[in-house]
Amino acid sequence: MTRVVVIGGGIAGISAAVSARKAGAEVILLERQDQLLGIGRIAGSMDVGGRYPLHLEILEMGGREVNEVLDSVALPNTEAYRKSHYPWHSLPGSEEMTKHSWIYNVLTAEPALRRLLQSMGVEIRWRSRAVDVAKEGNHITKVKLANGEWIEGDAFIDTCGSAGGMDQCVPNVGGCVMCPWMQCPTFGNRVDISGKAGAKTVSMRQKDGRPGVKYNGIYLYKGSLSKELQRQLDECHQIFVPFRGVIDWETDPEWSWATRGQDGNDGMGRPADPETSWRVSPDTGRFRLLDRGIFAGGAGPSPIPLEKLRQIPGFENVVVAAPVGGQNLWSLGHDLVLCENNLRVPPLDNLFTAGSKAHIVDVQPGINTGYLAGFNAVRVAQGKDPVELPQTTVTGDIIAYTQQFLRDSLNSEYGGPTTFVSAHAGPYLRRLKDIGFFPDNPEKAKKRIADAGLTNIFA
Ligand SMILES: Cc1cc2nc3c(=O)[nH]c(=O)nc-3n(C[C@H](O)[C@H](O)[C@H](O)COP(=O)(O)OP(=O)(O)OC[C@H]3O[C@@H](n4cnc5c(N)ncnc54)[C@H](O)[C@@H]3O)c2cc1C
Repeated sequence: MTRVVVIGGGIAGISAAVSARKAGAEVILLERQDQLLGIGRIAGSMDVGGRYPLHLEILEMGGREVNEVLDSVALPNTEAYRKSHYPWHSLPGSEEMTKHSWIYNVLTAEPALRRLLQSMGVEIRWRSRAVDVAKEGNHITKVKLANGEWIEGDAFIDTCGSAGGMDQCVPNVGGCVMCPWMQCPTFGNRVDISGKAGAKTVSMRQKDGRPGVKYNGIYLYKGSLSKELQRQLDECHQIFVPFRGVIDWETDPEWSWATRGQDGNDGMGRPADPETSWRVSPDTGRFRLLDRGIFAGGAGPSPIPLEKLRQIPGFENVVVAAPVGGQNLWSLGHDLVLCENNLRVPPLDNLFTAGSKAHIVDVQPGINTGYLAGFNAVRVAQGKDPVELPQTTVTGDIIAYTQQFLRDSLNSEYGGPTTFVSAHAGPYLRRLKDIGFFPDNPEKAKKRIADAGLTNIFA
């Protein structure tokens, strides 16, 4: 039987494993931690902006399993959650951004996805950190684990993501903060497997030229928030906490650097384009506070000292659960791989990639590209050509667009990208609107996928 080895069990690796298994392969998933889902363990917000067309497309292409599991762990009170989005999203033209949004439970998603893989017969190898590959020419034959064991396969998928490890965070971000999503001190650093195999990889660049992007995400103990904030969170899972005046983003030289593309902000806390901008609002501050007690998504700012956090109304007694150690920065955007639009990684003939390793960020894009990578890995292992999805689909478009973005960035003064391509907001959502992909609906997506001849391709 054809054997596909998936390296990295984040959302992209999970989806690749499901897809390769469905295509008939024996699948081994190597995960360096003792949990799946990687950064998806702090994400959860689904179907905002351009994520929605991608979701509709994967269903039409017959790749339903991963989304069905996430649906099954959706948090209740979806309407209240939708209404809780930023004030900008009630401006004329911007309602579509969050009309379909919902959020999955980050605490129960991981065990549910683990059960899915196990029920499908995917062999998950825990605490199995890939560190090297063996090749015959441009053909990978096996991958080496940190314990010295070699795992053979017919095709390989690098879904190790782009976050950390300590070898990046210590010199470039100011230290390891023991973030609960990477857990490098226990499980070891992420490894650039594609780079080790001979592929071209490139890192994002900070304003001072250092590799990676500082990303600010803090877990707070919900019980340490004021009773009123806890009540509001129980009601709708997401609130926006006004803390301008205490923390002043405009004077922070870092604050909008990495996500100006993602947020579509104008660098001054205002949306450059109200129809596509995300999270930026001068009167409410910038972070959303989610049910699990997390500030998610404020990329770029310098660390917020505890004594400052406690000046925010409702945060007087706040206790930070993670990252541990006062510094709330960690890093993303390392070792992004250049690949073909079918997700094969040149010059290798049997290595594929998906998700944030290919700079394709967010959960839904990770699912769509994971399915394609798993499908194509099996095809190539069986002597067939890999399939490229046309740019008449959003899935095909975001792959081609992002890879071109990566290639173009090599010629920038930084020698690499300084921002993200994000489907859910900013310039790429503007593109989806201009092309006519967005707003979307099930009938429109069905036709789009049928016209491309892709209906149930992953079924
Ligand atoms: C703070 C924050 C909030 C976010 N919120 C949202 C949101 O609300 N909605 C949304 O859609 N997106 C969100 N995102 C983006 C989204 O979470 C990520 O783009 C996505 O989860 C990345 O998935 P991935 O599988 O590509 O990579 P990762 O999640 O990084 O997974 C990589 C996996 O590979 C493993 N690994 C690494 N190296 C090795 C190795 N050598 N051997 C074996 N295993 C290895 C890691 O342990 C990890 O499990 C957020 C991101 C951040 C940073």
